[in-house]
Amino acid sequence: MRYDMNLYDGPFDCFRNGSKDIELRLNDEKRSRIRPGDRIFFHRLSNAYDVVKCIVSDIRRYADFRQLYEKEDLFRCGYGEDDHPSYEDMYEYYPKEEIERYGVLAIEVKVTDEPYLVDGHVHLEHGPLTEEYVMSFIAEAQKKGLDEIDILDHSHRFQEFRSCYDHLRRYPQQEEWLSRPSKFADTLEDYDSLIRKVKQRDLPFRVRFGLEVCYTEDTEEILRDILKDRKYDFLTGSVHSVGDILYDMSFSEELLKQEYSKDEVYRLYYERLISCVRSSLFTRIGHPDQIKVTVSDPAFDLSQYYEKLAEALIENGVIAENNSGCHWRYGLNDIGNSDELLQVFREHHVKMIAASDAHDPKDAGSFIAEATKRIGR
Ligand SMILES: [Zn+2]
Ligand SMILES: [Zn+2]
Repeated sequence: MRYDMNLYDGPFDCFRNGSKDIELRLNDEKRSRIRPGDRIFFHRLSNAYDVVKCIVSDIRRYADFRQLYEKEDLFRCGYGEDDHPSYEDMYEYYPKEEIERYGVLAIEVKVTDEPYLVDGHVHLEHGPLTEEYVMSFIAEAQKKGLDEIDILDHSHRFQEFRSCYDHLRRYPQQEEWLSRPSKFADTLEDYDSLIRKVKQRDLPFRVRFGLEVCYTEDTEEILRDILKDRKYDFLTGSVHSVGDILYDMSFSEELLKQEYSKDEVYRLYYERLISCVRSSLFTRIGHPDQIKVTVSDPAFDLSQYYEKLAEALIENGVIAENNSGCHWRYGLNDIGNSDELLQVFREHHVKMIAASDAHDPKDAGSFIAEATKRIGR
């Protein structure tokens, strides 16, 4: 079995640096089921995608923390040389009544150095909103050894967002694209009902649901209105257009050339991306240097935009994707963001998540191990 637990930075870092290998918990209903050989994934409370993966090697039960503190090696429980351990320290985390009621556990673990593999960006777009279709993505992700997939669909699948795309219709190529039967074919209620059904299943795997929302400054308030009462596990804001032109279509290069210079394209793209982060609508930002799939090598140095973007991400607590789609879908060398952008994100301690942009079950988890490695820790 797999158990996910959150930890404050202090104990989390102790697990990671090897100074702690015993976790103290209440022996409540859920934790009383933990057995040697089970896996525990400790998530850093301030960054859920920073994870230490452990295997339970032993589990010892006590009536209360007083007894536990007498028997256990408290250094291995996370105390340092200068600490003065007291079982009363645990009252900060658990009320006395609960300790008396359930008893407590010393969970001894073996810390592994395996990375937590999450694909943060998987689309149902090419199939129906059914449980069976979702399960086919989960099966593939499990086959590839992933620990989590995050499912999202584009806002242009859902009727509610129709008016957010009106500005694109002035170009016939885009009007044709927006008139395809798959566009605005479902409602958010259809999607929410699917999410409820999948969440009722007892899955041995973490699956999260969100949306990938196309952002522009002019549609920000409509988006705010549509999204205000909706609860998803995450919301990814993505910039897919420069001015009124989509940049990742077969016709994009020609349309962009008619309206803008290369440098203008980059300036408009990054300014929109930064507004997207600052809008406070989203918990994540999709593929932050994706413009490179159509227009490459602007004549000016992008580092100022990278810095501004990193600062906006930190200020707004938004996670940035490292999306491998530009590599395996568009044939670029980068497995996700450029080295320079990743470096700026690391310097600013931007939270990052690996993502594939899979649109079909067989592609879930594509280049996730590589994209995860490039994020670094
Ligand atoms: Zn996208
Ligand atoms: Zn996508």
